[in-house]
Amino acid sequence: MFSKKEAFDVVVVGAGPGGSMAAWAAAERGLDVLMIEKDREIGVPVRCAEGVGADVIQRFIDPDPHWISSEIQGVRIYAPSGDSVAFTEEGMGYVLERRVFDRALANRAGQAGTEVRVSTCATGLEFNEDRPCGVKILTRGTESTVRCKVVIAADGVESRVARWAGIKTMIALRDLEVTSQYLLDNVTTDKGYCEFFVGADVAPGGYAWVFPKTDKTGNVGIGVCGRYTRKRSSTDYLHSFIEGRFPESTPLAMVVGSVPVAATLDDIVGDAIMVVGDAAHQVNPVSGGGIGTAMIAGEIAGRVCAEAIRDGDVSRDRLHRYRKEWDQTYGNHQKRVYKVKEAIQKLKDETYNASAAKLMNKASPTLRDMFMTVLRHQPGIIFDVVKMFAFMKK
Ligand SMILES: Cc1cc2nc3c(=O)[nH]c(=O)nc-3n(C[C@H](O)[C@H](O)[C@H](O)COP(=O)(O)OP(=O)(O)OC[C@H]3O[C@@H](n4cnc5c(N)ncnc54)[C@H](O)[C@@H]3O)c2cc1C
Repeated sequence: MFSKKEAFDVVVVGAGPGGSMAAWAAAERGLDVLMIEKDREIGVPVRCAEGVGADVIQRFIDPDPHWISSEIQGVRIYAPSGDSVAFTEEGMGYVLERRVFDRALANRAGQAGTEVRVSTCATGLEFNEDRPCGVKILTRGTESTVRCKVVIAADGVESRVARWAGIKTMIALRDLEVTSQYLLDNVTTDKGYCEFFVGADVAPGGYAWVFPKTDKTGNVGIGVCGRYTRKRSSTDYLHSFIEGRFPESTPLAMVVGSVPVAATLDDIVGDAIMVVGDAAHQVNPVSGGGIGTAMIAGEIAGRVCAEAIRDGDVSRDRLHRYRKEWDQTYGNHQKRVYKVKEAIQKLKDETYNASAAKLMNKASPTLRDMFMTVLRHQPGIIFDVVKMFAFMKK
């Protein structure tokens, strides 16, 4: 359990959902896996609103009340006018307790045979010629190197591991959503509904959210796009939002962070390296949700890595199967969602207001109705919206 072993088949850097899924999928197939996490505790700090679709969770793990804060049966979207439209779908998703959820995924990887080391930071890569062959690590002040056949970089949005391997990880400012969030007590939330607030004054180029955790607590946050923020910070926007909506609330925790609302990196594999999750920009560009997509990518990466090592070929070409499967599973869909995001960011408040007024009169509106309504003046994008929802129905 606390080995000083210095050689593994795979080293996974980062114990978020992407890393733990990759470690689990590889260890399940008999690989000798080390997963390292720089923080002292897996799952902490929580930089997340914790909302996730039920389908993706159930695909990989049985839902457990220990890591589910609330069950979600719909979303409610508020236009700048204050009008709101609710979209209901039984069993839509969960608001997680991520500190417990992330640990459950890491524990499952551990039970499958992964060695997990916390307080262990990757500080660089070792190369054999141009190919990564190990990870330099710092564990509570002590430096060492672990050798491996493949490195899986699951080190989140600020990823450095992929860059060390020569992979281009730059992201355009317009594709980076800057976020701030409080866990608030003493808030009245629409239990069972995740609420979203749009508009140029609330969250330019993004949205504010209220995700219910318990009867009285919720994650209340904001994501804005730097291109539209007129020099105000996301925290500044968030304070205005909370003062207006929850003046009696008490903040219990605060996080800031960023979300890559882009398409997947051009390269997510190289010789002996694979990149997973936020590090690879595998996020839904409209919702900013990256838990489920990191899990999908991690599972594929771990599986492909195991097959490649079994075949004795960890070249870029061989590992490219991960890219191919990712594109078929989610990456191609993500490109369409990205186009929809670009269109949504340009919408004016009047469009939201008119659309909300129209949808409020419709019996049982769907999210598809909403996208079709707000984007109806942009025929170029309607085809992508139709395909986007066709994919989601699969
Ligand atoms: C404010 C906010 C709200 C969000 N809300 C949602 C939401 O409601 N739903 C949703 O689906 N997504 C949400 N997201 C996005 C979601 O949190 C991420 O997409 C998801 O966590 C990605 O998983 P990951 O495994 O790729 O990376 P992470 O969960 O970021 O995990 C990466 C891990 O790598 C570790 N690490 C980094 N560098 C090193 C190193 N050098 N050595 C060792 N370890 C390292 C980090 O400590 C971290 O634990 C939100 C993000 C933010 C910022």
